[in-house]
Amino acid sequence: MNRPGLDQVLSQRLAERHAAGLHRSPRRLQGVEGPYGLTPDGRTVVVFCANDYLGLASDPRPGQAMAQAAVDQGAGSGAAHLVSGHRPEHEALERDLAAWTGREAALLFSTGYMANLGVIDALVGRGDTVLEDRLNHASLLDGARISGARLRRYHHADAEHLDALLQKDTGRHRLVVTDGVFSMDGDCAPLPALARVARRHGAWLMVDDAHGLGVLGRSGAGLLAEAGLGQADVPVLVGTLGKALGSFGAFVAGSRVLIDALVQSARTWIYTTAPAPAQAAATREALAMARDQDWRRDHLGRLIRRFRDGAADLNLPLMPSKTPIQPVLVGEAGQALAASRALEARGYWVTAIRPPTVPPGTARLRVTLSAAHADHHVDGLLGALGDCLPR
Ligand code: PMP
Repeated sequence: MNRPGLDQVLSQRLAERHAAGLHRSPRRLQGVEGPYGLTPDGRTVVVFCANDYLGLASDPRPGQAMAQAAVDQGAGSGAAHLVSGHRPEHEALERDLAAWTGREAALLFSTGYMANLGVIDALVGRGDTVLEDRLNHASLLDGARISGARLRRYHHADAEHLDALLQKDTGRHRLVVTDGVFSMDGDCAPLPALARVARRHGAWLMVDDAHGLGVLGRSGAGLLAEAGLGQADVPVLVGTLGKALGSFGAFVAGSRVLIDALVQSARTWIYTTAPAPAQAAATREALAMARDQDWRRDHLGRLIRRFRDGAADLNLPLMPSKTPIQPVLVGEAGQALAASRALEARGYWVTAIRPPTVPPGTARLRVTLSAAHADHHVDGLLGALGDCLPR
């Protein structure tokens, strides 16, 4: 049999993606400063799709801390944490993260994707069950898949459905996993109800608060802090450092026992190079700013209200979100892409989110707000959305 070559097969798949309006490619910006981005053809756009919710990504302070640490210690750690890559900067950041989130201990991971794969795989395996919200981030679903545990998905934000699934489930250990703030919708998981159901069934609850940390709760300690849930309610907390903190990386926080167990068996922590100490130094600086500078959250809160009020006046199809993630539902992938391009021509950078990232027929413009924005940026975006959305 004459088997097709690799490029031949891939070209066919790519052509199918193009035909379905689902082909993707990186969208380059030459640089970003505060709310502004510079396009390759030299135009300045206002960026409304970054996860830089507090405006820290281009603040000079974390960058200066990073530069100084890099001059002192170089650009890399040289090895995994268990070999020779572990530094005082990592430990200091882990202590800060544990204190911020009110947990006994924390463990740094290179990325949120790796944290989620590594944690789920370390906690459960064959004979166990992972129960996940249908709209969980891809990394949480992938973590369940590689763990070998049985994966069950409950209806979005539906604690009753979770209850029913747990009632029937016969797994040895059961891990309930949810996003805190849903990354593509901006709504929040019903954490108190999920925690009650998990406790009633003796299941363990894991929350990925990538988009709540820095934004919600006192001192930006996240959705769990806002809901008043401690380590006993949510034994496994995952956070990322590349969103509101404007840096890079991720962490898991919980009991000392949890962290020690992850050190023994989280493969995405063990078998990978430790992040650069300079990255940890930058994150510590950003964390101090996120924790202490309430004005960033206050300003962001005002912008969110301004956007939602203005969008309601224009009858824009918003989703029920109180967070800086304010998607505008479009529907078909091609229409979302066309709207995104029309916005870009007017000076607004908003990415179209299409299947398979979101369910078919729910393509959207994922508008995100940032403390780096001013009122006039939001007003300008609203005007442009009014002009560019299909009616
Ligand atoms: N969890 C959630 C909820 C996310 O939205 C993301 C990033 N988009 C991740 C995890 C992955 O984090 P990272 O970008 O650090 O890999």
